[in-house]
Amino acid sequence: PTFSDDVPADVRERHARLSQDLDDYSYRYYLGSPIISDAEYDQLMAELRDLEAQYPSLVTPDSPTQKVGAPISNEFAPVEHLERMQSLDNAFSDAQLEAWAHRVSAEVPVDAFLCELKIDGLAVALVYEKGRLVRAATRGDGRIGEDITLNIRTIDTVPLRLDESRYPAPELLEVRGEVFLPVKAFEQLNSRLADEGKPPFANPRNAAAGSLRQKDPRVTASRPLSMLVHGIGAHRGVTITHQSQSYELLAAWGLPVSDRVRVVSTLDEVREYIAYYAEHRHDPEYEIDGVVVKVDDVSLQRRLGSTSRAPRWAIAYKYPPEEVTTKLLDIKTSV
Ligand code: NAD
Repeated sequence: PTFSDDVPADVRERHARLSQDLDDYSYRYYLGSPIISDAEYDQLMAELRDLEAQYPSLVTPDSPTQKVGAPISNEFAPVEHLERMQSLDNAFSDAQLEAWAHRVSAEVPVDAFLCELKIDGLAVALVYEKGRLVRAATRGDGRIGEDITLNIRTIDTVPLRLDESRYPAPELLEVRGEVFLPVKAFEQLNSRLADEGKPPFANPRNAAAGSLRQKDPRVTASRPLSMLVHGIGAHRGVTITHQSQSYELLAAWGLPVSDRVRVVSTLDEVREYIAYYAEHRHDPEYEIDGVVVKVDDVSLQRRLGSTSRAPRWAIAYKYPPEEVTTKLLDIKTSV
């Protein structure tokens, strides 16, 4: 059915309502003060996706199912990303994970998956020119982000200059990663805010967002933000063959790469990784909301390509929400 007339009025109304609500929730979320839980958001998004699968004429470029992030605010200068920053498709069950693995294996000969933790932080792009950090930006809507260079420069683990002792710095390197506030630092920050009679942050992610998006970088500098990198965007003067090889390069250049990354060859090993961190969810110093599985070979990544909002060569396996998170969301958030 491709004619809009085929869509029953009640479905059309529900679709419009869901789209508008999701846009509103997303806007609030990216400003650092969400009004519903992530699980509720994901559920409404799944409902919208189902409606669009049933009635494809409802899919328009401005549907929340097709977009990344949210429009940027006018507090920071806009920056155009050299290469689009995307989101990730989700799997909420083993069946969905398996369906993804079968889809990619049917298209290309996958021999290795890279498994890593899905950090619940803020997506950021760093640009290094001849080894020098020249710009940092939030993801924004994926095409245009906000210039947060001065704030990123206050993060100790982000090198201002790449270490060239093992490999020379490339002419151009766009690095993607997550900025986060370690859980311990989040708890300390909240107890300090409470002492000062200020409202606490709802969770580490909001605290990181609030700390990074400060007009005064001195406030950012006072918050012990950290970062882990998990990808390369635009680059010149370096050849990337595998996701795992890119992490070796990034680590050698002094960029913060996680030591919990694993390269495996079978879907069962992916499952073991997911099961391990379901049991050890609080081992890392940061909050995670799932596991990201990527096809390791970059030439296969290219062949698989991307949709308008997410790569086909990666999937985010999301863990079920923890009850404490929903409870914390009732607390008034700080900015
Ligand atoms: P996402 O959080 O599901 O995943 C995409 C992002 O994961 C990437 O942009 C990347 O920055 C990040 N990421 C973390 N670790 C990574 C790793 N190891 N490798 C690659 N990427 C990694 O998608 P999203 O588009 O950022 O946000 C959508 C999600 O945000 C929703 O599913 C929902 O959970 C939440 N959300 C909540 C609300 C709300 O009101 N509560 C509103 C909007 C969005």
